[in-house]
Amino acid sequence: MALFDLPDFDDHEQVVFCSDNASGLKAIIAVHSTKLGAAVGGCRLWDYATDEEALTDVLRLSKGMTYKNAMAGLAMGGGKSVIIGDAQTIKSTNLFKAFGHALNNLNGRYLSAEDVNITTDDIAIANTVTPFVTGTEGKSGNPAPFTALGTFLGIKASVKHKFNRSDLTGLTVAVQGLGSVGYALCEHLYNAGAKLIVCDINQIALDKAATAFGATIVGLDDIYQQDADIYAPCALGATINDITLSQLNVKIVAGCANNQLAEPRHDQVLVDQGILYAPDYVINAGGIINVSFEEDYDEKKSTLKVEEIYNTLLDIYAKADAQNKPTGMISDEMAREIIRNGGKN
Ligand code: NAD
Repeated sequence: MALFDLPDFDDHEQVVFCSDNASGLKAIIAVHSTKLGAAVGGCRLWDYATDEEALTDVLRLSKGMTYKNAMAGLAMGGGKSVIIGDAQTIKSTNLFKAFGHALNNLNGRYLSAEDVNITTDDIAIANTVTPFVTGTEGKSGNPAPFTALGTFLGIKASVKHKFNRSDLTGLTVAVQGLGSVGYALCEHLYNAGAKLIVCDINQIALDKAATAFGATIVGLDDIYQQDADIYAPCALGATINDITLSQLNVKIVAGCANNQLAEPRHDQVLVDQGILYAPDYVINAGGIINVSFEEDYDEKKSTLKVEEIYNTLLDIYAKADAQNKPTGMISDEMAREIIRNGGKN
């Protein structure tokens, strides 16, 4: 494999392959950029089909973190880690201690936190051997509720721009994925008067959403074809692709999942279809914003900063209209500018 020629390799500062036979740890840590500060980004535990798939994921996710942290106005660089394995069977105390030791080897250039399949308990185990974790219980804690709040406000900003209205009453949102963020997002949407269509592989979460929010349950592949105002991807990435784009029947794509566009060109396809896209790493920054308050945690300050996502998105939408460019492209340009300027807008 020609590593430096991989399409997702973006001049990453450091990519580290970590292995510990005794605990079964196989992990990749990618430090994309430390220009604005130590790289921060969660750890994802996933049963990747191939090592190449894991590498692609960590390269893309770590770059996304650099842009996310820059756009959120945080003095943090971008990084991410993936642990390869089945979340149902691989987890152990020794695994997360081995992961913690791997973090120590980077000596603070990268700080890890929760992402898909990684809980605050897992991070707490790593924390027994390394200080280089964040989002810990007792400090900023689980970032998911803040990601959900930011995503909700991002949906409101998108509705404001697209429909010129400030409320969500009667709008229909198709939510894909009822995990830590997706379920909490549904709660906000329901309380704001939105109608919900949901899908998940987890029947318990579906039943809960149907009872609590009167959500309509649809099949995994049917979520894209729903007659809805908003599609909120809240499970995994690349759900905006050539197949789903031909099925989408919404005016807005706004959800918390990372790397929603399968390919960068899908940004323009969404524009061509008259769909407003809330750039993923902007709308889902609530969790990392909360994590940035880890030391001397202050929930009020954190919430105020998460609320800035609303105006950041309106700013992106205005620039996209003025320059006749897709929103994802505008956001990337803004993020690169902030990084070039050392963190200033
Ligand atoms: P989670 O693991 O708690 O939830 C994911 C949910 O998606 C689960 O309920 C799972 O059953 C469901 N799911 C899996 N495959 C599915 C499929 N094919 N169709 C429908 N549902 C499916 O994860 P989370 O923390 O809620 O994160 C969700 C997404 O948001 C991820 O892409 C994550 O990277 C991103 N994100 C999360 C945070 C955070 O604070 N947790 C922050 C930023 C971005």
